[in-house]
Amino acid sequence: LFAGPVDFVKGVVAMSGLPPDNRIEVCFAGRSNVGKSSLINALTGRKTLARASNTPGRTQEINYFALGEARYLVDLPGYGYAKAPVAVVAKWQALLKSYLAGRVTLRRAFVLIDARHGVKEVDDEILTLLDRSAVTFQAVLTKTDKISRAELDRVTDQVRGALAKHPAAFPELIVTSSEKGEGIETLRAVIAALE
Ligand code: GDP
Repeated sequence: LFAGPVDFVKGVVAMSGLPPDNRIEVCFAGRSNVGKSSLINALTGRKTLARASNTPGRTQEINYFALGEARYLVDLPGYGYAKAPVAVVAKWQALLKSYLAGRVTLRRAFVLIDARHGVKEVDDEILTLLDRSAVTFQAVLTKTDKISRAELDRVTDQVRGALAKHPAAFPELIVTSSEKGEGIETLRAVIAALE
């Protein structure tokens, strides 16, 4: 699945722009700067696939990448950037809601959580939206190379506690570091196993 080229398909700004729903897909969500571009690049083995420094607040797109012949990897815009204009945030939230509730081929959302910060209120809002949209989601801890083993244990507990309140949460956390390549194979295997 990840062996061949992973091609950019299109950037989508409205539901009408979504590609045909003839493949299953997974999406990636997370606060701005959580390490989403780095993780997607590590997953796909490319350095420049996902832009590593999205300019927060510019026109936000849902980016589609083809994974093999039968899947899409979907990169959702980062959320929670404090300085994003209100109108941009509102438009993005509306698109996100429509996408999550309406995309029948969406099999799982991966919600990235910065291992230094744990689940923040703005993350919890997205988790609630995923519950309401009946989209199974799995939490992915990012940047774990930046913290100690003890801190990792602590944040893991915090995240598990937060997930327990969400019926759509998949219980297993995926612990990653794009920098060290940790957890990347695990994440690939999870995506490959989805049907
Ligand atoms: P995005 O805004 O969520 O796409 O985040 P980026 O992938 O652009 O990463 C934000 C910052 O975190 C950049 O400076 C990255 O180099 C850094 N970063 C991302 N992943 C890791 C990681 O696994 N370990 C470390 N140490 N830094 C990371």
